[in-house]
Amino acid sequence: MTTLLLATCNQGKKREIENYLQQGLADIRLLSLADVNVNADVSETGATFAENARLKADYYSLRTGLDTLGDDSGLEVMALGGRPGVLSARYAGEGANDDARIQKLLAEMQGIIERRARFVSAVCISRNGSALATFSGQVEGEILFAKRGEGGFGYDPLFFYQPLGKTFAELTLEEKNRVSHRARALEQFKIFFLHGGLAL
Ligand code: IMP
Repeated sequence: MTTLLLATCNQGKKREIENYLQQGLADIRLLSLADVNVNADVSETGATFAENARLKADYYSLRTGLDTLGDDSGLEVMALGGRPGVLSARYAGEGANDDARIQKLLAEMQGIIERRARFVSAVCISRNGSALATFSGQVEGEILFAKRGEGGFGYDPLFFYQPLGKTFAELTLEEKNRVSHRARALEQFKIFFLHGGLAL
């Protein structure tokens, strides 16, 4: 049995990563930051999702001595030159909630016809403060003019995914985990794990 620390306080991400890994990898025991009584915040100063995922994974793995999986993710909107990007969580200011971020995005996209966007996720696995590997995934969609659906988290109610004809907030957890940016990054982590990447 391999124990991994999951370095995220975001409940939406945590739920999805746990669901994904627990379905696919029975040999992994996942611990949360709460389980190990760590609640320090890591400043996300990186310029890319991969850098930020690594900052989180390195920090918590060094601090706890546990192999740690860090995730950084966000929304890139083409008409906004890729914003909010790595600033997705802070798009409407520190302390704002999902709804405030959604309202801000709708306001900024008012009158814009070009609605293409993508979610991007980077996942990094670190040991004793050093990254072993980083994986990334993305998924393309469109920003709607109003929210649809009650599931998911973050920008999901505005993110329309054409192949399923639904927003990410209209998908079940299992459906989202078959197509999402995070699932695509985790898929590569799974292959790394199954090929013995952590058995060093
Ligand atoms: P992080 O904790 O810095 O990675 O913040 C990522 C932010 O990007 C979240 O707070 C969400 O606003 C947004 N985000 C990332 N992944 C998703 C997703 O799967 N659905 C909706 N929003 C997401």
